[in-house]
Amino acid sequence: MKFLIYILIFMSVEYTKAQHIIPEIIKKEATIALAYYPQLKDTEIEFRFKNDIKKSTMLAQPVFCSLLKNRKKRKYLVLLSRKFKISGKEFKTTDVDSDILIGWLGHELGHICDYQNRSSLNLIWFGIRYLLSDNHIRKAERTADSYAVSSGMAEYILKTKHFILNNAEIEETYKARIRKYYLAPDEILLLVKEREAVEN
Ligand SMILES: [Zn+2]
Repeated sequence: MKFLIYILIFMSVEYTKAQHIIPEIIKKEATIALAYYPQLKDTEIEFRFKNDIKKSTMLAQPVFCSLLKNRKKRKYLVLLSRKFKISGKEFKTTDVDSDILIGWLGHELGHICDYQNRSSLNLIWFGIRYLLSDNHIRKAERTADSYAVSSGMAEYILKTKHFILNNAEIEETYKARIRKYYLAPDEILLLVKEREAVEN
C-alpha cells in the first residue's frame, strides 16, 4: 500500500513538472523527437495546431513575452499546420507516416536548440532578418537540420526529406524551397560520417 502511494506521489510530481504541452494525436511522435534532445527536458515547449501557416508545415518560435524573462524561463511554440497541399490536394499533417512526422518535429526542435543559445535581443533581430533575408532563412534552416543530425536524428530527417523530394505528387515550388534553404541528403550523410569519425 505504502509503495502504491509513493508511486502515485511520484507520478503526480512528474505530472506537474511536465514542461511540454503536446496534443494527444502527436504525443508519440513528439515524445520520441524530444527524447533526442535531453537539453530541452526542462524547456517549456507547446506544440499547437493551426489552420494555416504561410509557406511551411511547421514553425518554431519563442513566445514573445517570455523573451523578457531569464533564458531558462523562456517559452517556445511549435506551430503545426493542420493540413498541407500535395498537387493541389489537401492532406492532414497527421496522416503522414510516424517517422516522417518525427523528422519534421526533430527539425523544429533543432530551431529551439539554436534559439536557446541566443540572447533575447539576438532572437528579436533573428526574427526580423528571417523576414528580410533569403540568406538568413537558409542559415537558420540549415542550422536547425544540423542540430537534429548532431542529436542523432539523421535517419528521421532523411526520411522526411525523401518524402518531400521524391514524392512526384508534391508541388515543385515546395520542393524547390526545401532544396534552396535546407541541408541536402548528401550533406546530411556527410555530417553523420563526420560525427562518427569524431566518436570513434
Ligand atoms: Zn525550419
